[in-house]
Amino acid sequence: MYCPQCGARMALNDETTKLNEYTCNTCYNTEIETKQPVAGHPL
Ligand SMILES: [Zn+2]
Repeated sequence: MYCPQCGARMALNDETTKLNEYTCNTCYNTEIETKQPVAGHPL
């Protein structure tokens, strides 16, 4: 993932079963990326 604010590559800060949290080391922006359900796997 790239930072929508400054375009720098974001570092994976935290990962759970449902989402990834990325932090930008350049401007300290944080973005949450919700994981897509695995195909064929019931919710
Ligand atoms: Zn940034």
